Amino acid sequence: MLMQKEREEIVAYGKIMSSAGLSSGTSGNISIFNAEEKLVAISPSGIGYFDTKPEDVVVIDLEGNIVEGDKKPSSEWALHTVFYKTKSEARAVVHAHSRFCTTFAVLNQPIRAVHYVIGDAGTGTVPCAPYKTFGSIELAEAAIEACGDGDAVLLGNHGLLTCGSSLKSAYGLACNMEFIAEVQYRAMCIGEPVILSDKEMEHVMNEFKSYGQVKKPDEKSCY
Ligand code: 13P
Ligand code: ZN
Repeated sequence: MLMQKEREEIVAYGKIMSSAGLSSGTSGNISIFNAEEKLVAISPSGIGYFDTKPEDVVVIDLEGNIVEGDKKPSSEWALHTVFYKTKSEARAVVHAHSRFCTTFAVLNQPIRAVHYVIGDAGTGTVPCAPYKTFGSIELAEAAIEACGDGDAVLLGNHGLLTCGSSLKSAYGLACNMEFIAEVQYRAMCIGEPVILSDKEMEHVMNEFKSYGQVKKPDEKSCY
């Protein structure tokens, strides 16, 4: 079976993501990119995370052609592959309909530097792409354009997308974005959050390089 390890990892993280309440039902999707082979293992469309088996995960090429698998790939395959085509470091993508990120996505508002951990996204603000229909090429184009240099973007009236150098990184970043979106929401309920300056966020992102134990570059911690 092609990309067996990656398929197993996608199944495992699907269950983790679902159990964490980050994406309920069949919402959201996960992929891993093998840059040498230019192949993508992606969760199947419309199958619950606890019903998905490794053989249900579909291996596609960057144009969405099925290379191995008898299930339909995620309807968001173009959204995932555009990140692999555009961001040379990206090896995994997580898309979730997590409650607090989606709350700001329906307002078409970004996640802001209300908390320093936003620096995990590689930017001081996580922008929101304009609404486009799910599963469309237009959504993929809008998302990558809005994302810019960072590793996270909100999808207008839809949800969140993160990418990373590993699935652990991309998933950890999704958890961090949801944490900040929740804090931003709560703070806005009772007052006006103080936004950290661009200068401070640059400093924070620099400090992140030496934070914690020795780890692979771009590895995120998950709350
Ligand atoms: P899939 O089940 O096709 O992956 O779609 C879920 C989703 O979140 C669409 O945006
Ligand atoms: Zn979605």
